[in-house]
Amino acid sequence: MAQPLIGITSFADRARQPAPYISLKESYVRAIEAVGGVPVILPVADIVQARAIIPRLDGILFSGGGDIAPWYFGQEPLPGLGGYDTHRDEWEIELCNAAWDARLPMLGICRGCQLMNVARGGTLIQDIERAKPGALQHNPAVPHDELCHEIVIERESALAKLFGAERLRVNSFHHQAVERPAEDFAVTARSSDGIVEAMEAEDGRFAVALQFHPEGLFMRYPAFLAPFEALTRAARARLSSL
Ligand code: MN
Repeated sequence: MAQPLIGITSFADRARQPAPYISLKESYVRAIEAVGGVPVILPVADIVQARAIIPRLDGILFSGGGDIAPWYFGQEPLPGLGGYDTHRDEWEIELCNAAWDARLPMLGICRGCQLMNVARGGTLIQDIERAKPGALQHNPAVPHDELCHEIVIERESALAKLFGAERLRVNSFHHQAVERPAEDFAVTARSSDGIVEAMEAEDGRFAVALQFHPEGLFMRYPAFLAPFEALTRAARARLSSL
């Protein structure tokens, strides 16, 4: 049986010397490989290419990265906003909407979770510490395989089935978060301070958005391969039904 092609978004590292590079944390690629998918790294490109790429993929993974420029979700920049790249924002919003229209299985991680929300019409908290006094630490200075806060997962959600648990301790490397979820998504996990830590599609398709980083954890905690396994399974099912 043909193996499913899983597109993974990347970013342009324009400050890289002696020349700009296309950049992606290797663990995303290794996670998809580990579950039998074929990783295909997608560079930031002209948005007209998005609709050409999507029909050639069987699934897509929106990777982590910097902030999203706030005017894409109807806000002005606030103190605490970090670095953004509007080339990447516009590209990924187009890619996400094209993927949505094609019912392509999708997984979003960290920025990817926020990107899926913005593309579908939701809003973000620009900086948790300033917007939510009393919130937990969501961005400790530790390696990506260190756990941080707990999340509580909605019973009956795809996420609860993925992990076989309703409480899970996860890592956390973000200062932004979903504020108002897009109508297409249901919130399926929160930390104890109410921050959105996961969402999934309301209509039953495979579209899962995670605020934590399973790609940073799966080498140490194999249970965190589950989201990649589920994405690849959905991509394989779609491929064999075409
Ligand atoms: Mn967090």
